Amino acid sequence: MANINQHFLKLQSGYLFPEIGRRVAAFAAANPEKAPHIIRCGIGDVTEPLPQAAIDAMHKAVDDQSKRETFHGYGPEQGYAWLREAIAKVSYKQRGIEVEADEIFVSDGAKCDTGNILDIFAHNNTIAIPDPVYPVYVDTNVMAGNTGDARTDGSYEGLVYLPCTPENNFVPQVPTQHADLIYLCFPNNPTGAVATYEQLQEWVNYALANDSILLYDGAYEAFISDTSIPTSIFAIPGARQCAIEFRSFSKQGGFTGVRCGYVVIPKELRGRDAAGNKISVSELWKRRTGTKFNGASYIVQRGAAALFTDEGLEQTKSLIDFYLSNAGLLRAACMSVGLNVWGGIHAPYIWVQTPEGMKSWDFFDKMLREALVVITPGAGFGAHGEGFFRISAFNSRTNVEEVCRRIKRFL
Ligand SMILES: *Cc1c(COP(=O)(O)O)cnc(C)c1O
Repeated sequence: MANINQHFLKLQSGYLFPEIGRRVAAFAAANPEKAPHIIRCGIGDVTEPLPQAAIDAMHKAVDDQSKRETFHGYGPEQGYAWLREAIAKVSYKQRGIEVEADEIFVSDGAKCDTGNILDIFAHNNTIAIPDPVYPVYVDTNVMAGNTGDARTDGSYEGLVYLPCTPENNFVPQVPTQHADLIYLCFPNNPTGAVATYEQLQEWVNYALANDSILLYDGAYEAFISDTSIPTSIFAIPGARQCAIEFRSFSKQGGFTGVRCGYVVIPKELRGRDAAGNKISVSELWKRRTGTKFNGASYIVQRGAAALFTDEGLEQTKSLIDFYLSNAGLLRAACMSVGLNVWGGIHAPYIWVQTPEGMKSWDFFDKMLREALVVITPGAGFGAHGEGFFRISAFNSRTNVEEVCRRIKRFL
């Protein structure tokens, strides 16, 4: 019999979203008359159709594949130059941020990228992860064997947790100890927090002083609605020497079902080999990508590139404005019943303290039973998420308005 990767057995079985699904299904089965009225604000998936510019570009790309003259087989492993150039120009250079097209690696999404990046790092790094956080960072480190066993509160031995609390406005402080790899995500999932230039500069200074690498997840960058908030870690002086950025078209362009994202690795970024030699991180990632990936689909990349045309940008903006208006309504509803609320201004998530110190899973059950609304319990994102819940603004306006009415009626 083949031996399995033993590290997988350390993973907590009650992973967040399956557990939510299980509880909702059990409730719906026991209450069939109520089931049709359940509104799901749990999983962070978009709900609105794709921008028309992306639809038109993908239709045309399908037609390209029907003729020998315009057919595309395997593409460049790093992504088509026309997409990488559009990203470099619109998402970076036009905002005064130095990123070149050949530092961009197009992929099938940021979830894969944030997990796969561990391929190119050793297993003896000290890894720092915010708490609460997008569960992928912790679980991929568990799978890679970079942690010890789980503790009873769901945290793992061997990781450095960076607490995100109301006291620090859910932006973690730099630790007093050394860390080699540090995950950061702004605007944040699940808290909706954003970091200022000064806060990110502290992280860059820490990374430069400690020879660390920041793994910066900017999946929600497009939701930043104020030019005083940095949209990229590379807007911070010194970041090119110490950061990798992950981006995705999933939340920006509604591409969760289309699948496209990218990684930015500056040419000057270095790691260290066992003998102490400095090694180009970008060269390692290029090697990894060339070996394990054959590129995102031509059709999908055409769709992504269309988001950077004038009409694509306009349609994307109205899509994001729509979700941000939803977030504003949900924020106001929670505040009107006296709850403590964070996020929802530069992010599609509202992070709320449970009333009367309720445990987040107890509050989840109460909302499901009484209000027929599915929220996400904060404890599912880490030990410091206990006592909070997340509401997603990814929903139709009709559903959001109904959720607001129910919040006012039941809380
Ligand atoms: C949704 C999300 C992503 C994007 O994942 P894709 O695989 O590109 O769909 C990445 N990071 C965070 C924090 C997210 O919430």
